[in-house]
Amino acid sequence: MIAFIVHGGAWDIPDDQLGANRAGVEKALTIGWEILSNGGSAVEAVEKAVVSLEDDPTFDAGVGSHVNAAGEIELDASIMNGTTFRAGAVAAVQSIRNPIALARKIMDESEHILLAGSGAVRFALEHGMQRCSNDELLTGRELELWRTLQGRKSFSTKEAFRKKISHDTVGAVALDSDGVIVSGTSTGGTQNKYPGRVGDSPLIGCGTYADSAVGGASCTGWGEAIIKVVLAKTAVDLLERNSADSSAAAAGAIERLVKKADGFGGIILLNHRGVPGVAFNTPRMARAYLTSEMNHSVVEV
Ligand code: ASP
Repeated sequence: MIAFIVHGGAWDIPDDQLGANRAGVEKALTIGWEILSNGGSAVEAVEKAVVSLEDDPTFDAGVGSHVNAAGEIELDASIMNGTTFRAGAVAAVQSIRNPIALARKIMDESEHILLAGSGAVRFALEHGMQRCSNDELLTGRELELWRTLQGRKSFSTKEAFRKKISHDTVGAVALDSDGVIVSGTSTGGTQNKYPGRVGDSPLIGCGTYADSAVGGASCTGWGEAIIKVVLAKTAVDLLERNSADSSAAAAGAIERLVKKADGFGGIILLNHRGVPGVAFNTPRMARAYLTSEMNHSVVEV
């Protein structure tokens, strides 16, 4: 059994962006699936699929990320291997085009789990990665949005989640032919966020979690609420109680997000047998999945 699921964020995706969201998650699914079906590892599938989503300006991750209140782009990402229990993550990192690739390097080549800011950049350069310019990550759409928000007296993160403004954090969960489950998540965070603000995405247990004996999850949505309920680990704990029902675990996690933290968001997960589950309480969520027991992939927005 192999299985792969990706997401491109949960929010009120406008009609005119449905096509781009669908195409982006479908492409990422294809990239990861090719790796898994050729015997490749879940780590490789998650990294390469998330890189594709980061490179796609449709999504709020890598190129196309939101701009913070200081006019900078600060990125968060994480990856976790559910068999080795190793993880790597970056927070508030600037000038790195593919933060998921850096998170993987930290997982593979460091004794640490989470590196933030200039330390993460230093590690990237020491390990053969290049810096990119802010302009390489900045799109006209985000610059325009940032300019509009500068004229506003206040703009809270929670308010952002009530509006039709992009929240396209991306993520993936893979089960490979060795039974390894890996989860990964990458984001530009929220619009006009306070410089240095870190959301759920790089926090193991909050935005990302994997345990090959139970399942793996990747989250998106209002990070401040997701952190409070440790959403990804909560979902995996629910799976542990009832591993047959991935959909119920996903729904139960989102229910807790709403009940305990008045939150908004979405989650994708796989149980240890590769059965996918998806839940969200936003109007829409871009996602795609395929398992070796399905005849064709599901791509939905
Ligand atoms: N969860 C991300 C954050 O709060 C944003 C998102 O998923 O849209 O940084």
